[in-house]
Amino acid sequence: MTYRLILQPEGLEPAYRESSAGAARTRATREVRIGSITIGRGHPIAVQSMAATQTADVAATAAQVRLLAEAGAEVVRLAVDTPRDVEALRQIRAETGANLSVDLQENYRLASDVAPWVDKLRYNPGYLSSPRSKRTWQDKVRFLAGVAGEHDCAIRVGVNCGSVDPTKRGDLAPGDNVRPMVESALEHCAELDRLGFTRYCVSLKDSDPAKVVEANRRFAAARPDVPLHLGVTEAGMPPEGILKTRIAFEQLIPHGIGDTIRVSLTVPAEGKADEITAGRAILADIAAGRLLNAEDIATFSRGRLNIIACPSCSRVQNAAFVELAERVREATRWAAEHPITIAVMGCRVNGPGETDVADLGLWCGPTAVNLKRGGEPLGAFSYEEILPRLLEELDAMIR
Ligand code: SF4
Repeated sequence: MTYRLILQPEGLEPAYRESSAGAARTRATREVRIGSITIGRGHPIAVQSMAATQTADVAATAAQVRLLAEAGAEVVRLAVDTPRDVEALRQIRAETGANLSVDLQENYRLASDVAPWVDKLRYNPGYLSSPRSKRTWQDKVRFLAGVAGEHDCAIRVGVNCGSVDPTKRGDLAPGDNVRPMVESALEHCAELDRLGFTRYCVSLKDSDPAKVVEANRRFAAARPDVPLHLGVTEAGMPPEGILKTRIAFEQLIPHGIGDTIRVSLTVPAEGKADEITAGRAILADIAAGRLLNAEDIATFSRGRLNIIACPSCSRVQNAAFVELAERVREATRWAAEHPITIAVMGCRVNGPGETDVADLGLWCGPTAVNLKRGGEPLGAFSYEEILPRLLEELDAMIR
């Protein structure tokens, strides 16, 4: 019963119920080939992960790709932000036969440089709509689809709660913060279809499992033909991060929603294979009908201190980030019964946006950690000073 050891969070002993709903139904999505694998339309759900090493460090990243591939990762994603990363990617490609995906956040222009070396391009619609850019987002999507087509790559339209397209945020209906994510994804699908590019999948990620479920259900209802990449972003450290992910996946996969998954965990680079092990354990349990009890889900979801933390990637600005996340968890255990969310993020890409939604947020720079309360900046503190400062704020908030 390895899955129990992996999934059991402190203070909660989940019991599993046997359910015939566990046998996943297959949606009639399009097939999308990513290198040597195909997702969608009855193909097995693929498990993937992302390298947490500096992409420019060829030896470390090649070793990370090997570690993940040997653990069973069917796609390994790498972040690419600079020409040095591009050169490193070329060398990493020469060393591995793994299916590689590249993560383009603010640097969509690098697509043409990296596409010859990878099997999939991931872009984030939130970064294509800058008001400062002379090119429209439609121009950028046309460019990305053209590059992908030319180099035999699939595309993932990766919508993330911390960086939703700013032009959609104004549409936020009161009490409905899932709608901007879904609308953004649908808009990009329509544009790709219009361009005749259909080799794409979509992800709608949030750090709250309930919003992941809602966003993916709504999207799947509107576009049952588009394969979905599932994940709870910034799920945090195991075992809580695995449990949050499991809660979301159990409510989607048995209903035929989900064609590839990632379990995002805040663990050091050498422990990244845990993401694959956890993903396979969740899929095996769902296939066997071993699902969490509703009461256990309610217990875990209700009024508890929630630490969200990013899984780290090449963009982490200080390697002390993972250790800091662990120190925050240890130092805040006394507040476990208080419904407060603390976000710990590894860089400025998703850090400022994601910490906005937390009661207390830390986003880590190269030498200092930025502290926020309810979205308001409180200043930057050294890695030594930050913990007492955070605890001061937490204490005041609880009082
Ligand atoms: S917040 Fe930054 S470091 Fe963390 S996973 Fe996202 S991009 Fe990578």
